[in-house]
Formats: sequence, C-alpha cells, structure tokens
Amino acid sequence: MLNNRVELSFDAVVIGGGIAGGESALNLANNGYKVAVVERDLSVGGKMIHLSKVFPTLDCSACITTPKVSEIARHPNITIFTETSVESVEKVGEKSFVTKVTRRPRYVVAEDCTGCQECEKVCPVIVKDQYQYNLIGRKAVYIPFSIASPKVAAIDIDNCSLCGACEKVCPSQCIDFTQQDRYYTLNSKTTIVATGFNLFDPKGMPRYGYGKYKNVLTSMQMERQIAPTRPFNTILRPSDGKVPDKIAYVLCAGSRDDSVGNPVCSQICCMYSIKQAQLLMGALPMADITLYYIDIRAFGKGYDEFYEQAKGMGVKFVKAKIGKISEAENGNLILRYEDIQNGKLKESEHDMVVLSVGVLPNTEASALFQNSVLEKDSLNYVAQPDPLNPAKTSIEGVFSAGTATGPKDIPDSILSAGAAANAAISYLTSH
Ligand SMILES: Cc1cc2nc3c(=O)[nH]c(=O)nc-3n(C[C@H](O)[C@H](O)[C@H](O)COP(=O)(O)OP(=O)(O)OC[C@H]3O[C@@H](n4cnc5c(N)ncnc54)[C@H](O)[C@@H]3O)c2cc1C
Ligand code: SF4
Ligand code: SF4
Repeated sequence: MLNNRVELSFDAVVIGGGIAGGESALNLANNGYKVAVVERDLSVGGKMIHLSKVFPTLDCSACITTPKVSEIARHPNITIFTETSVESVEKVGEKSFVTKVTRRPRYVVAEDCTGCQECEKVCPVIVKDQYQYNLIGRKAVYIPFSIASPKVAAIDIDNCSLCGACEKVCPSQCIDFTQQDRYYTLNSKTTIVATGFNLFDPKGMPRYGYGKYKNVLTSMQMERQIAPTRPFNTILRPSDGKVPDKIAYVLCAGSRDDSVGNPVCSQICCMYSIKQAQLLMGALPMADITLYYIDIRAFGKGYDEFYEQAKGMGVKFVKAKIGKISEAENGNLILRYEDIQNGKLKESEHDMVVLSVGVLPNTEASALFQNSVLEKDSLNYVAQPDPLNPAKTSIEGVFSAGTATGPKDIPDSILSAGAAANAAISYLTSH
C-alpha cells in the first residue's frame, strides 16, 4: 500500500483550510511560494463559511468568505487537498519536513461533477445534515453546502445503501464506487498549523437540557437559521415549527467554568450573541430577546458601541447565573436563575433557548508530529513560546495561525495568519 504513495514537493504545507489556514496560504502563494493546504473536511472555509454575518459590522460572512475561498482555490501556487487526513509530520532536517496524508474517496469523480444535484434528488437515504448542524436532513449523496469549495458531490459511504440510483441519473457519469484511499507524501520546507478550534458540546452540561429539550439550540444552530444560506426561510423552533417570539441566550455555556474543564473566556460568545440578537430583532421585529450573562466582554474596536446598539434596539440583558432549564408541556423552557444584581432566585419562560457555546482546543495538531514535540500550553492549545513572535511554535520551522493557539475572532485570526506567513517567509529566506 505504501508503495502507492504519490510524492509531491512544496515550500509550505498548511494544515487546516479554515479562514486562518487559507489566509496564510494566500500570503505565501502571493509571495511566490508553492503551498499545499490539507483540509480534513469536504470543503475549505472552516467555521466562518457557515456564519451569518460578522460582528460588529454585520457584513455578510458568506460574501466575505466566498471570494477569499475561490481566490485560494484558483491560485496557481496553491494545491488543496480536501477530505484529507494528516497521518504524520516529521522534521527530517533543516528546512525539511515530510507530511504523510491520506485522501479519502468521494466516490464521485470531482473533475467531472457539475454540481447539478440530480443524484441528490433520487437518493432514498436521508441522514442529519452536519453542515446545517443537524437542523435538517441531507441525502447520502450530497453537495456539502451551496457555497462549498469545491462544489462537488460526495457519497457518505457509511450511510449509502448501494442502491445505484445516483449512478443511473448522473448526467456526467461521475459516480465511481471503485475509488479508494489515496496516499501522498508532501515534502516541504516549512509547516503551518491552522487546525482551528472545537465547539463545546453542551450535552456535557445536562442541566441545560441540550439534546433532551428540542427547543434548546446551540449558537451555531442559530447562526445557520439566520444565515443567507439558511435551511428554512425563517426562524423556527424545532419542536413544532413555531416562529419563536421569546428567545433567551445563555452566555458562557461551557466557558469560564471549571466544572466542565474550561476555565477560560472564549472571547467570541458575548459578541456573537449580541450579533445574533440584533439579527433576530431584524428578522422577528416583535420578538423579545433576552441575554443572560455573567459579564459582557466587548473588548475590540467598535464592540462596546455594538453592545450599546443592541440595548438601544431593545435587546434585554440580565446579569444572571442559570441554574437549570426545564421544559413546560407546550415545549416552552423555564429558566431558573440567580439574578446577580439583587441576589434573588427567579424563573422566566421562553419559547426557545440558545446556548452560547464556548471554544475548546483542537488537540489533534500535537499528536501529528512524530519525531519532535509540538508543545501545548496549559489549556491544551498549541503553545506560543516566544512572546515577541507569537507565530513561532516549539518546533523551529513550524508556525501557528488562527485559533489553533487559543480563542480568537475573525480579525485576530486573520492577523495571526498574516504573522504566521511572514514568520514562515523569514524562515524560508534565512541562511
Ligand atoms: C457561533 C459562532 C459565531 C461566530 N461569529 C463570529 C463573528 O460574527 N465575527 C467574528 O469575528 N468571529 C466569529 N466567530 C469566530 C470565528 O468562527 C473564528 O474566529 C474563525 O472561524 C477561526 O478560524 P480558524 O481558521 O482559526 O479555525 P476554524 O474555522 O476552526 O478552521 C479550522 C479548519 O481546520 C480544519 N482541521 C482541523 N483539524 C485538522 C486536521 N487535523 N487536518 C486537516 N484539517 C484540519 C477544520 O476542518 C477547519 O476547516 C464565531 C464563532 C462561532 C462558533
Ligand atoms: S447508491 Fe447510495 S448515494 Fe447513490 S442513491 Fe443509492 S443510497 Fe444514495
Ligand atoms: S455526481 Fe453527477 S448527478 Fe451528482 S451533482 Fe455531480 S454531476 Fe450531478
């Protein structure tokens, strides 16, 4: 099997094709360097490509991400490996890295697929759509999402019944069940780790009822409901399809909480909750939106003004610790909380609750490095040992970009990606 490996050489390998990895790759490519971007998912774009609008400007996230992603995809100096897992990264000498990767089959000939979706129409299998954060279903053969890059179908072989219907209707005859894993060895002079962050799974806090009460959603599920590429044409609560008119946000869900092993502030949740509240006020003008918060951290440029703007629009802010959420017979949710301002225990009823889930480290990156140690900090993010060069990692020639090193919003992720590309270029040109 290993003899089938295709060997390719690049100046840099970027692990992770989110906004940070993409930006680093683009910076390097625009300076004439050949870059491989390795992305484990079916599309590049990371989490940003799924967002609605961005705080504090309320610019459309898809409208910012899509041109950037197509610039990366079309760049002559960039080769993208999607649906690809990194097996190992080894530093074999000065400015010499070997990254072994496996590209999983899509069971669709990517070059021939026109994205017509005829296959989706006939596929009888429906499973939860991970790109819509399980709000709706998708077929076993599917285009990941409308602005995916590449916009090419893939077969989810674990759920495929092998009925052959897609094969019969595909006008390009590009369904190919004979595809197998492909193995590559990527030689490079430098490596950038841009493996991003994980989202806190609120099932880890059973008192909030996520997974048990249908109308308790995560912020990412709400992000999808208010995005231009949203699954429904309005905002619906899952239990009965009712348009909600009293929505609660529970901030710091899985952040600043030792009991769930995540003591730090996730930095983005206050602001994305305020953003979503403003967007909901626009979409549902009669709705009552309340944010239950411990502290509001509006630290960036224009963020405090954005917070004040939300208050001016009528979004309610209650300084409170939520003890428990329970469900009423009609699917409404009862929040029991301590009102921190006056120390009283209170209850309030809402028809939908959004958990503003926190950011967790993606701990995979360190495990990929074989013969040298990619150190982690005390919170399990990629360590930044040099305060004067935050892109440096514990391995000379390996740099970090974006949220791989800790929670960041998009502007800070982009800044760190630029820093990583610059540090990589200095390393490549050093003697
Ligand atoms: C609900 C929500 C709303 C938000 N709203 C805003 C907002 O309005 N404004 C704002 O500034 N920020 C917002 N953010 C934050 C924003 O999403 C992040 O700043 C941004 O996504 C960070 O980009 P990244 O590239 O570092 O990480 P990610 O987006 O996590 O991308 C990492 C990429 O690496 C890939 N990857 C991971 N591990 C591997 C591996 N081992 N091999 C190959 N590939 C791998 C992943 O599949 C992914 O594509 C929001 C976040 C959330 C959760
Ligand atoms: S072969 Fe699989 S992917 Fe194709 S239509 Fe049948 S179930 Fe769907
Ligand atoms: S696999 Fe065939 S039918 Fe499906 S989107 Fe691609 S070209 Fe269309």
